[in-house]
Amino acid sequence: MTVTRKLRMGMVGGGPGAFIGPVHRMAAELDGKIELVAGAFSQSPERSREAGESFRIDPHRAYADYREMIEVERKRSDAIDFVVIATPNYLHLPVATAALDAGFAVVSDKPATATYEEALVLEKAVAKAGLPYALTHTYAGYALVREARAICATGQLGRIRKVAVEYLQGWLSQPLEKTGQKQAAWRADPALNGPGGCIGDIGVHAFHLLEYVTGLDVTSMNATLRTVVPGRRLDDDCSAFLRLENGASGVLMASQVAAGEGNGLRLRVYGEAGSIDWRQEDPNHLRVKWMDGPEEIRHAAGGYLSEDARAVTRLPGGHPEGYIEAFAVLYREFADAMIAWRAGQSNPLPETLPGIRAGVRGMRFIERVIESSRTESWVKF
Ligand code: NAD
Repeated sequence: MTVTRKLRMGMVGGGPGAFIGPVHRMAAELDGKIELVAGAFSQSPERSREAGESFRIDPHRAYADYREMIEVERKRSDAIDFVVIATPNYLHLPVATAALDAGFAVVSDKPATATYEEALVLEKAVAKAGLPYALTHTYAGYALVREARAICATGQLGRIRKVAVEYLQGWLSQPLEKTGQKQAAWRADPALNGPGGCIGDIGVHAFHLLEYVTGLDVTSMNATLRTVVPGRRLDDDCSAFLRLENGASGVLMASQVAAGEGNGLRLRVYGEAGSIDWRQEDPNHLRVKWMDGPEEIRHAAGGYLSEDARAVTRLPGGHPEGYIEAFAVLYREFADAMIAWRAGQSNPLPETLPGIRAGVRGMRFIERVIESSRTESWVKF
């Protein structure tokens, strides 16, 4: 089947004042392949309606609740094609399974679920439904992350020996959750967030980036979680030693009490012959250092970049691309996969697009870090 129209998206979450919902909307629509037509944007029916109005969608399709959205949409001849989940974590599993059961594909924000047990339930639901499922680990959409991944895959660095990944933020250095700040409030509540605080919010991104770029699985870890801000109910700081499947060692640092830091995600990979260094706050440059050659700084849009990096570049060199464009790369890959799936391809999701495997591994990682910290010991993955 040739798709001659835009794919129709129904969003859960992303109402007034939300952080990531608006990013999803901008990113999904950037390439002109997807349009927002419906949503249950808030737990408040009134705010969901208001949001629908501000997004200029049909007022009848701004629903009071995600269950209502799924029930009503499945009966429409112009129904949504997929559901986007941009809510606090505890809703990821119920919304995803309700959507999949009704025959809708899913794009979910991370972490895939609130707990590892839930991730196993989701994995089964995705397999049973046979529908596309994508997970928005944003950083996988940057051209120079794709370049770093391609460098590792070609073996140019030689055997990978050491990986250092850090994700440092400072915004939770004070008990912000006690002020009613929306994003901090649910993240500090185990019932809404799940058991991993900083480790579940940003540690999971760092873990994903490490595995995504190196192509190596983490096999064991020894981690320490701390709650630095008094009275906080979940961890806000993590240090972990990792072992990778090829015997390499890794260090992962994640903190939300690193005062002064913004969104300090950085990955360094060291092989026998050289190393790479990428920072999210300078995403259009990738540093590559060789044992026996000068340091290179690769620029986004360079004609010399790998095919994978060039495939996700939109602008000529020197025109910076950033967070929204990276997010949009994931949506573009998802849209293309949806079109292929509708045309009968059974497994259309590209390897470059994080999916259910990444979701389950991320939740396992959070669970294992908590266990390692609790037992003060190395644990197998
Ligand atoms: P947020 O608090 O800003 O937004 C959550 C939204 O969900 C709000 O609009 C809220 O009204 C809505 N909501 C809550 N309960 C609902 C319900 N029952 N029905 C419909 N809507 C409901 O949170 P956020 O920071 O945008 O985070 C949302 C999700 O996105 C989290 O899972 C978080 O981990 C993830 N996230 C991912 C990234 C990334 O880099 N990919 C960045 C930030 C957040």
